[in-house]
Amino acid sequence: MELTYLLNSGFMVRSGRTVLLFDDYDDPSGAADRMMDAGDFDRLYIFVSHAHFDHFGTHIRAYADRTTRYIFSFDLRRTKRVKLFPTNNIVYMKRYTEWSDDRLHVWTYDSTDVGVSFLVEFEDGSRVFHAGDFNWWNWLGDKEENRQMAEKAFKKQMAKLRNLDADVAFFPVDGRLGAAQEMGPQAFVDKTDVKALVAMHRVGYPRWEPSETFFGKREPIPTWAPTVPGETRRFVDGQFISD
Ligand SMILES: [Zn+2]
Repeated sequence: MELTYLLNSGFMVRSGRTVLLFDDYDDPSGAADRMMDAGDFDRLYIFVSHAHFDHFGTHIRAYADRTTRYIFSFDLRRTKRVKLFPTNNIVYMKRYTEWSDDRLHVWTYDSTDVGVSFLVEFEDGSRVFHAGDFNWWNWLGDKEENRQMAEKAFKKQMAKLRNLDADVAFFPVDGRLGAAQEMGPQAFVDKTDVKALVAMHRVGYPRWEPSETFFGKREPIPTWAPTVPGETRRFVDGQFISD
């Protein structure tokens, strides 16, 4: 698998001749454009986890001619922006649903914000999980009751993700949460069987390194926290490799 950071929660994932774009609302390094120009792929699937501006932009409609499917969270259906996309090539997914074709299998989970999370399985059985805005949104300055609600929502959803098996998981490590930024991803890696973690949703914050206690109860797994648009890693034998 080859992974390229676009911006925020935007990533390009390539496996063989299949390319996935996740939450590509903006691509300042032009990585997806270069992939389109090179044209050495035969399937392109464009995923959007929810309609927030920092996940869903309209520049991905430029890829319409080469897009196998737009796989959109159900909440995009109500936006004006989605009218710019070819209706017959969009699959809208609600939470806890499945979609597949001869190349991919996709499952959705709930978010703790808007929209869905995606679990995607390639033909060879490798899997990626993209959380969207699913996270433990524990805003430390917020009212106690709001923080309790955030915790409850997160834990309820975590129960459904228990033992989730994925090779690579993209998950928010949002710097705005300050001292609480590791709580969501830490609980996530603790309760699931993901084999590697990619930090996302932290534009403007320094490169994240897991704190000493991050892997408290489990074996450490490889992490990658890209900060520069266009950064790429190959994921081979369970490790992130930079070229
Ligand atoms: Zn977001």
